[in-house]
Amino acid sequence: MADLAPWAVTDEISRGRAFAEPRPKSRSEFQRDRDRIVHSAAFRRLEYKTQVFVNHEGDLFRTRLTHSIEVAQIARSIARALHLNDDLTEAVALAHDLGHTPFGHAGQDALNECMREYGGFEHNLQSLRIVDRLEERYGAFDGLNLMFETREGILKHCSPACARELGDLGYRFLNNLRPSLEAQICNLADEIAYNNHDVDDGLRSGLISVEQLEGLSLFARHAAAVDREYPVLPGRRRVHEINRRMIDAQVTDLLTESSARIANAAPHALADVHVAPPLIGFSAQMLAENRALKTFLREHLYRHYQVLRMTVKARMIIRDLFGLFVGDACLLPPQYQVMAAAEGLPRATADYIAGMTDRYAIKEHRRLFSVGPN
Ligand code: MG
Repeated sequence: MADLAPWAVTDEISRGRAFAEPRPKSRSEFQRDRDRIVHSAAFRRLEYKTQVFVNHEGDLFRTRLTHSIEVAQIARSIARALHLNDDLTEAVALAHDLGHTPFGHAGQDALNECMREYGGFEHNLQSLRIVDRLEERYGAFDGLNLMFETREGILKHCSPACARELGDLGYRFLNNLRPSLEAQICNLADEIAYNNHDVDDGLRSGLISVEQLEGLSLFARHAAAVDREYPVLPGRRRVHEINRRMIDAQVTDLLTESSARIANAAPHALADVHVAPPLIGFSAQMLAENRALKTFLREHLYRHYQVLRMTVKARMIIRDLFGLFVGDACLLPPQYQVMAAAEGLPRATADYIAGMTDRYAIKEHRRLFSVGPN
């Protein structure tokens, strides 16, 4: 970490771990965080959780796991180029979606509805709950006992009520402070990753078409450049050439804009980053193009009738399971019965359901609701 910017997060200035531990011998503290995340059960479950397409719909679509790896790749590249702590950035990126329910946003909305009277459900908060509490792997503490800045990066947003409950970690939401630049990078790397891979997956699925995408300036510009360079290119290769140029253009734009903002704000240390406006961001033009792409994906992919059909099924599965478990704690696996005694049956039920993979939830629903041999 020789050439880190003076405002980067380092082991030395970190606010450390809730439970004091000896320093690692051969890695940095944030490398250790990253390694703990990779070895967690919640991380392995991401393999079978939906990004947009349910896991069994095709082998080539992104899952939460491959999405998280793509976010980490993009985030790390940006962090390194800006001389920030890329170990912290990677740790946050790999953990950012740990709290996602099965069936993507449809699953989270359904669980949130079920939990309405019991404090709600939010995947971002759940990611924090997993690393702080739910992982059962260490003798000395619950959760993964991650560094403060890793936890801060995982918690992207939260309500004032929840911020008050979270103490140290909630402080910045109540006082309008920004997280580290490493955390800011992860937010935007998440956006770059999903906007672009959803274009790729959307095309592969046939739910959206190249002709539709050519109505977007970001796509059209790179399509024209690819066609000039390679006038005859078979479909998939052309799509990938366009897609990779779009990612590169977004990352390059982010680096140029963020470097200018940092130069302009002239921070001396991390404390200056907290009180500055967001220093990681896109140029106004790229921001507008990204918004157009997002709107397109919402209208034509996320709300495509074939995707919505799965959404309806997902909602039904989650509601049925929640209703059943919340009516009878005896049906929960023993560790969740222990959680129910500590934090109430609805929260324990939400933890159990949120931890399910798509296929486990489908199987569990079939086991509990279908009469006859399974
Ligand atoms: Mg994400």
